[in-house]
Amino acid sequence: MSAHKISKSQFLKGLQCPKSLWLYRHRKDLAPEITPDKQELFDTGSAIGELAKQYFSGGVEITNEYWDVQGAVEATKSYINRGENIIFEATALHPIDGGYSRIDILKRVQGSDEWDLIEVKGSTSVKDYHYDDMAFQYHVFHAAGYKIRSCQMMLLDNTYIRIGKIDPKGIFKFEDITPHGLAKQAETEAVSGQLGYVLERKEEPKISIGAKCFAPFECDYRPYCWAHVPDYSVYDVFQKPKAEEIAKLYGLSLEKLPRDVWPSGNKALDLESYLNGQELVDTDNIRAFLSELQYPLYFLDYETLMPAIPLFDGTRPFQQIPFQYSVHVQQAPSSALEHKEFLHQKQSDPRRTFVEKLVQDCGTQGTIIVYNQAFEIARNNELAADFPEYADSIKSINDRVIDLLVPFRSRWLYHPNQKGSASIKAVLPAFTDLSYDGLEISHGGEAMRQYGAFMSGNLDASFWDALWEDLSAYCKQDTYAMVVLLDVLSQHRETQG
Ligand code: SF4
Repeated sequence: MSAHKISKSQFLKGLQCPKSLWLYRHRKDLAPEITPDKQELFDTGSAIGELAKQYFSGGVEITNEYWDVQGAVEATKSYINRGENIIFEATALHPIDGGYSRIDILKRVQGSDEWDLIEVKGSTSVKDYHYDDMAFQYHVFHAAGYKIRSCQMMLLDNTYIRIGKIDPKGIFKFEDITPHGLAKQAETEAVSGQLGYVLERKEEPKISIGAKCFAPFECDYRPYCWAHVPDYSVYDVFQKPKAEEIAKLYGLSLEKLPRDVWPSGNKALDLESYLNGQELVDTDNIRAFLSELQYPLYFLDYETLMPAIPLFDGTRPFQQIPFQYSVHVQQAPSSALEHKEFLHQKQSDPRRTFVEKLVQDCGTQGTIIVYNQAFEIARNNELAADFPEYADSIKSINDRVIDLLVPFRSRWLYHPNQKGSASIKAVLPAFTDLSYDGLEISHGGEAMRQYGAFMSGNLDASFWDALWEDLSAYCKQDTYAMVVLLDVLSQHRETQG
């Protein structure tokens, strides 16, 4: 057997890039920190795993520590020998390549010596990388002597609607991916064998950066391997596989890129602007956009939760739940700004109070300005469906929406410092001295995570006041940023880039 035992997650790391696995095992000093976002993913995965166990009654669990592979293998065999039919975290070890697998659920086919491998995932559909995941588990269990009848994915069913306590039989769905797992056996076997040799090497493998650094997941070692890559490089103006080709031919720097291989469309405009250091300004389109606006102006932004396991009756897995908004109101071109906001501060469904207050605060006339209207309009449509008594008011809000993203996404106004992004976080500091730096909460994912901790009872009450303050400051900054960016647009209505 190989001297190196390789777990499933290590196999998947090595499949994406052998160097990543080598760094993981040999360069502990480069180990990425576990960020709060990653920790939340782990915690959500654990909660889904616990729910999955409730689906199967009478299961037994292998509880050996993660490093005690041999102990877990023996415990699994002993459960099988005593006739158990459902084993959580069942473990097998490949007798030759040292790969080992802890399957979420090993389920005996009733009355036979065959087994189903069941892997639980916190997603609502099968992804391509799940096939590699399952192929590895099959590879190990099969070689360890198990007769495997099927490979099943146990996924969250996004048609499930919570009513009362979560129903484990209702929230999950199964997908049989046996053919995909079997089709990948030759590749899995070859890669598993090679990874053992990679790990035996004393020197770091010489592997160039490329598209693989992003797929299926962004690699943890990008700060190390990509330290030499310019802040704005060919990887920012081409799709990743194309960028890899271009980088091999012409290098990473945009300054050296021959004109005949430039990208097309917006990416070409971005590159032109970057290289000559000049803004792009399309005054005709800016004027046309501004002429659509009708006072009073409402600058509106939402924050949402998206729990994998629904928290409230009437909601589905991963449904977006709006819990906060900020709205700056300007009655006339030179009038002072007013600010209104809503933040649900109870551990209960925020939606009804959200929509009641929203309808009051948005008035009945004037343009409602958002940044990326697809998001707010989709939330409004969901609210209208769930609270039909407000459907007419919500529809009239949607009818008044104008998207401030459009002029920036369309490059009617573009600053070289945006470096290809029209996100408000890129546009704001490019044109003004404002930014999100210094805010305790500085992006929507963080707002979602911290509020989610409060809502699920995982945030001590002593932190709540600080959370309200941080959330309020963040959401208010989003709508104030829109006020400022509209002013920036107005200033460019006459200038020519
Ligand atoms: S950053 Fe890229 S090259 Fe470096 S280890 Fe990760 S995938 Fe491999």
